Amino acid sequence: ALIGLGYLAYGIYEDRHPVDQKPPDPSKKTLVVLGSGWGSVSLLKKIDTENYNVVVVSPRNFFLFTPLLPSCTTGTIEHRSIMEPLRNILRHKTASVTFYEAECTKVDPVNRVLTLRDNSEIKGDIAETSLPFDYLVIGVGAQNTTFGIPGVQENACFLKEIADAQKIRTRIMDCIETATFKDQTDEERKRLLHMVVVGGGPTGVEFAGELQDFFEEDLRKWVPEIADDFHVSLVEALPNVLPMFSKQLINYTEKTFKDEKINIHTKTMVKKVDEKTIFAEVTKPDGTKDMIEMPYGLLVWATGNAPRPVVRDLMSKIPDQAKARRGLEVNDYLVVNGTEGIWALGDCAATKYAPTAQVATQQGQYLARLFNTMAKTQALEEDIAHLEELGHATASPDDKKAIATEIEAKAKTLRRSKRLMPFQYTHQGSLAYIGSDKAIADLTFGDGNNLTSSGQMTYLFWRSAYVSMCFSTRNKMLVIMDWLKVKMFGRDVSR
Ligand code: NAD
Repeated sequence: ALIGLGYLAYGIYEDRHPVDQKPPDPSKKTLVVLGSGWGSVSLLKKIDTENYNVVVVSPRNFFLFTPLLPSCTTGTIEHRSIMEPLRNILRHKTASVTFYEAECTKVDPVNRVLTLRDNSEIKGDIAETSLPFDYLVIGVGAQNTTFGIPGVQENACFLKEIADAQKIRTRIMDCIETATFKDQTDEERKRLLHMVVVGGGPTGVEFAGELQDFFEEDLRKWVPEIADDFHVSLVEALPNVLPMFSKQLINYTEKTFKDEKINIHTKTMVKKVDEKTIFAEVTKPDGTKDMIEMPYGLLVWATGNAPRPVVRDLMSKIPDQAKARRGLEVNDYLVVNGTEGIWALGDCAATKYAPTAQVATQQGQYLARLFNTMAKTQALEEDIAHLEELGHATASPDDKKAIATEIEAKAKTLRRSKRLMPFQYTHQGSLAYIGSDKAIADLTFGDGNNLTSSGQMTYLFWRSAYVSMCFSTRNKMLVIMDWLKVKMFGRDVSR
């Protein structure tokens, strides 16, 4: 308890602001970091900013704790509880970091310059400008893929950013209020109360679980007239949901969904969407295919990632990236193939790993070590060159000997620090919430040993793991308070 209190006090009172930091040094090499997600932020946390002139560019001036985003769609968690201002992260660095809230729209890898666009609603005199760089780290993430399926972009909600969660939250209540409007037709009420999630990956599964909880724990009580017609459906093209989890956990999830009355439609591939209906192709047990129509009120589309336009544009400029599809191809040191001094990490990089927060975090930590080592190596090389000059200049044999010893010691350190290992990912496991106070966990420990667990105890583990991973003490407290608030008063059903 004492350690906890000490930690809390430290979190609240530890106070450093840009005025207390060393100013950025433009004579140092300019390192531009694009993005403020898992990869970029974990790099910024660990990098020694005194060695570079660090500039961060991101269209959002905060870090978002994405694992709890599905909980924001139903008001279990308030969105501010999982946002951490980037400036609060950067003020802890010894040398200050420049931040521009802007979207990087173009990367010129030859002239080493970026095009930045200010996308905020308020327009200043300058809306677009350029930024030169010596080193560049691209951590811009990915966008939602629609596979070009007609009608998805226009009619579906996505679940990547805070604004997406807010839109879904409003949309759920809109559907309910319209469904219960005076003289509403039966057919229309049923349609409006049909909530469809497409994509049975962790995003789709977690959202479906949260939405069914919202209905069972709150909506059913507050708006009893929707009780018979409110339904959540999960649509997945493959034969089962959560392909990255073990068979046992997949079965457990599918059984839990059945008990929760969430309809799972596997082997169902959505082909087209219009304002009110989803058109999907179902593969029947005998292998034949059938087209079905699903009227819906809310459609949440969670079918994975596609590269962002800025990444696609950069890929098209680099011949070595001609075959790249999923994102920027990188070597074992995360350097973008076909470039020098440009690295990519997280969801915008195509690697052999799944695009998860865990991978991005470890890549960010790796790159921070790499940049810290690069600076150390350069300082050692400069020291050695200086000592060699001194050695040549001195006539005294004793001084020459002392300098030679010092050079040898520094050269040894230099050799050691140059031995940088390639990036290696350590998978710690996967966790997912599946509704009705149950979670699933596929944990890896030691030498690749696996432990799977599911149920309510796993849910407690899920909660404690996510709280401990929240960015700041403030975030941790807000998340715990949100959970307590929902336990005591239920969720807020206002639109
Ligand atoms: P995903 O790629 O994991 O799953 C998308 C699913 O959509 C696939 O199973 C695919 O078969 C299905 N699909 C694609 N097109 C379809 C169509 N037309 N009709 C029906 N189904 C279709 O996507 P995600 O859930 O957004 O996850 C993205 C990444 O983020 C993954 O690597 C995932 O592991 C990670 N993630 C992890 C967690 C967690 O660990 N708790 C949570 C969220 C995301």
